[in-house]
Amino acid sequence: MALATASIDFSALEANLARVKALAPQSKVMAVLKANAYGHGLVKIAQRLAAADAFAVARIEEALALRTGGITKPIVLLEGFFKASDIEIMLANNFQTIVHDEYQLEALEKAHLSGQIKVWLKVDTGMHRLGIEPRQFEHFYQRLKQCDNVCADVQLMTHFACADDATNTYNNKQLTTFMTLVKGKEEALCLANSAAIINYPQSHGQWVRPGLMMYGVSPVQGQVSADIGLIPVMSLRSEVIAVRKVRQGEPVGYGGNWQADKDTQLAVVAIGYGDGYPRHAGNGTPVLINGVRYPLVGRVSMDMITVDIGADNQNVKVGDDAVMWGVHLPIEEIAECADTIPYELLCNITPRVSYEYLG
Ligand SMILES: *Cc1c(COP(=O)(O)O)cnc(C)c1O
Repeated sequence: MALATASIDFSALEANLARVKALAPQSKVMAVLKANAYGHGLVKIAQRLAAADAFAVARIEEALALRTGGITKPIVLLEGFFKASDIEIMLANNFQTIVHDEYQLEALEKAHLSGQIKVWLKVDTGMHRLGIEPRQFEHFYQRLKQCDNVCADVQLMTHFACADDATNTYNNKQLTTFMTLVKGKEEALCLANSAAIINYPQSHGQWVRPGLMMYGVSPVQGQVSADIGLIPVMSLRSEVIAVRKVRQGEPVGYGGNWQADKDTQLAVVAIGYGDGYPRHAGNGTPVLINGVRYPLVGRVSMDMITVDIGADNQNVKVGDDAVMWGVHLPIEEIAECADTIPYELLCNITPRVSYEYLG
């Protein structure tokens, strides 16, 4: 086995999708696979999500890679298309598109197509990133309805800015804005990302859009996956490549950022920011070696980290198994130690890391 390896547990993936369905039993699932399925491997993950109703990605290249990989389910482009020339590609490949801006509407109106494209009209209810303004809603809706190149059922979408915090009143404000706008419309609604699936059952609609939770990571502030019945899909592991002694007062790593306050031993593990392990992981970030937690000490290098295993430790040797995150070491905790979020850690896995798929 290669040194830095992302082990992907398919049975955990399937269990998490089942958990989504148990939480949103009335909704279809648009499984979000952008950014290489959050670092888990785009096509491999799609192949295992047979129980999903559709897939969603952020770029047309990701959607095409799914088709090349033999995936036949409907695919939704979460940011829509960016060039008029993409419209033919969408039609040929059964991609559905978000419409969030006038330029997309105009391109759809002007196109000469041999079929119709399924459209999701995205409304900005308060995130202020993508989406038409609520006051434009009826106008866009009617123009899409009248457009021959667009399927008659113009589906409706919005996105929450703060759903990870169930106490934030902004969520209800967005929900109310959306529900007021779409009142009386018969088309399918899609609002909920992972956090809203968990925190806001009233937002489920006909479709939900889970990303992070499918990969077994908590989207909710202050909770880890086990608290919400999810199982981490990825374990990031490597091996111990040296065990060494350091004496009291000796500095370790670049910048001498950490000094031993007593004699101890270090295990050097073959993983670093060149693999996607976060350089900002501070002194004390836990690492599992042979299943036991030890603190990272000194700066994360490109290819290695140093771990304080204690002066008297006889149990760690070259070749032993080290886990940076996984079932027994929540990625949520590592993200906090590195002052970031699990999403970023997962997306940052580099091509040097090899993948193994289990289950
Ligand atoms: C990424 C994304 C999602 C999935 O979000 P998670 O927090 O990972 O569940 C849903 N909807 C949109 C528009 C997205 O960009």
